[in-house]
Amino acid sequence: MTGTMMLLNTKGKAGKTAGSANVADAANVRFRAARREDGAAMWALVRSAGTLEVNSAYFYLLLASDFGHTCLLAERGKKLVGVVIGYRPPLDPEAAFVWQIGLAPEEQGKGLGQRLLGEWLNLPANRDARWLTATVALDNAASRRLFERFAVSCAVRCEQLEHFTADLFPHEHEAEQLFRIGPLDAAAREAIQRSISNSTSNIQPMGDIADMTVFEQYESEVRGYCRNFPAVFDTAKGAWMIDTEGRRYLDFFAGAGVLNYGHNPDRIKEALVEYLMRDGITHTLDMYSVAKQHFIEQFQQVILAPRGLNYKMQFPGPTGTNAVEAALKLARKVTGRERVVSFTNAFHGMTLGSLAVTGNGFKRAGAGVPLNHTVSVPFDGYMGEQVDTLDYLQAMLTDDGSGMDKPAAVIVETVQAEGGVNVACMQWLKRLREITEEHGVLLIVDDIQVGCGRTGKFFSFEEAGIVPDIVTLSKSLSGYGLPLALVLFKPELDQWAPGEHNGTFRGHCPAFITATAALSFWQNDWLSKAVQAKGRLATERLQKMLKNLGVKAEVRGRGLIIGVSFEDVAFAGQVSAACFERGMIIETAGINDEVLKLLPSLTISEEELSKGLDIIEQSIKATMKGDSLSAA
Ligand code: PLP
Repeated sequence: MTGTMMLLNTKGKAGKTAGSANVADAANVRFRAARREDGAAMWALVRSAGTLEVNSAYFYLLLASDFGHTCLLAERGKKLVGVVIGYRPPLDPEAAFVWQIGLAPEEQGKGLGQRLLGEWLNLPANRDARWLTATVALDNAASRRLFERFAVSCAVRCEQLEHFTADLFPHEHEAEQLFRIGPLDAAAREAIQRSISNSTSNIQPMGDIADMTVFEQYESEVRGYCRNFPAVFDTAKGAWMIDTEGRRYLDFFAGAGVLNYGHNPDRIKEALVEYLMRDGITHTLDMYSVAKQHFIEQFQQVILAPRGLNYKMQFPGPTGTNAVEAALKLARKVTGRERVVSFTNAFHGMTLGSLAVTGNGFKRAGAGVPLNHTVSVPFDGYMGEQVDTLDYLQAMLTDDGSGMDKPAAVIVETVQAEGGVNVACMQWLKRLREITEEHGVLLIVDDIQVGCGRTGKFFSFEEAGIVPDIVTLSKSLSGYGLPLALVLFKPELDQWAPGEHNGTFRGHCPAFITATAALSFWQNDWLSKAVQAKGRLATERLQKMLKNLGVKAEVRGRGLIIGVSFEDVAFAGQVSAACFERGMIIETAGINDEVLKLLPSLTISEEELSKGLDIIEQSIKATMKGDSLSAA
């Protein structure tokens, strides 16, 4: 197996070198505290490890003299192969701080780093430490992974706290986070001991392989997004994703709307880690759990009650399409009718029922069986700005000669995200509600992608002042990327017989925990306002940019879902690829992938948003240079 290995250092960027990921031959490594005379060798080792930040030999001599009892060396024979340089911070006496960890190139990726940390905590000077702390540069993926894995092997938490911001290192390097691993209680100490005495089996190889062969060889050809974004991702925080090469990508895709609160948001992660660490129950089918109880209570209190919404809650299987299937089934059962009206360019999921109400011909063709009991009608704007497409639906429902059986339901996305960021106007949504009410047809709003705050308000239909009969939610509901789906419906529609619609994963307890924590974002209107403000900022900037560049394109969206629909249909894909080259993840949408879809996390900072827009601008310029998209 060939690949690249990260060099370890808690400072600066990780370097890389070729190597194989076999486990360390730990038996032949000897560990000992540093002595004054080791200073020069420590300096040479750190230098050979290829780290960006190497201090002078004098500095290492000083460290070995004054901090020798908290500096650990690993030797193979006579050769120094690893070093941990640390100290006990006087102002944080419970912590043992790792300042630097370095491994000889030939030892990297074999688990020696983890072993070193364990041995280092075992030094007499560190035995009473309750926490292992270290500062790690944001882009140092190898060190981050080392500390995270070490925490996992001790079964303790690895908090990542904001610490030194980038402006404190003018022209030097990225911001540094404080990693705090612990508490190192008796159980954690025992785990460390076990891992030391059994190091060849307990040490995990670093496995830092930026090699995609394994996916190409064994994963099905059906894989999709990875083809547009060929990197192996390993860690992520906020608006950033980091690959195994330590490269950082600004995420303007947010897992297709799953990560509205960014990657690994601390306030949600803390709740999850705490739940896992106290052995909170993970799986219950649909049995009662404290995790579910708290979520239901909070959802009623924070979301439904303040909006005057009276809905029963059903937890179907964990994905969006599970929620859509349950909604369609319930509508058919309650009304005793089979047909469901959907809209052109709709997207509701890949299972047969959801596919039958999805517009995309390529996806529909994959069904392999007729997709029926549905009828597709034009979405808002489909026939041009001058046509109110609901005139057609109204006529079809009113006229007995229309040939359309009375449907059970109409299913709609207020903003068709996958379909090309097609935005229904408020008037159209209001009228759709009126028409469905007039004809006794249920209205299902599929809020899977644009709910949970994407358009500004928690539900995307709030602004239109309508109340759907059924609402589907998933994606960002758990707030953390854990699968969770929810169907909301008016109480009189709750005509399910017990167990009539079931499934194994109905309400995943860790997802309930994160979903409950995520509701804290909705205790006030701060996020809602921020989404509106950032959406306006991005839209105005895009409009100005396109005008200045003379590119023919339409900018449309609501809140923080924004589409740039280019006249040249191939252009969006090329811009997306150019963005990726510049360290950004952004997807396309629309039947021909003609729309560049901006879907950043709602919590993205204005600076990050603006950086992303800079990248889009550079990418458009680069695409124009290499492409024929003409200036107007
Ligand atoms: N409904 C909408 C509006 C969606 O955007 C999606 C997915 O993108 C789905 C349903 C299907 O969700 P899932 O892929 O989780 O099944």
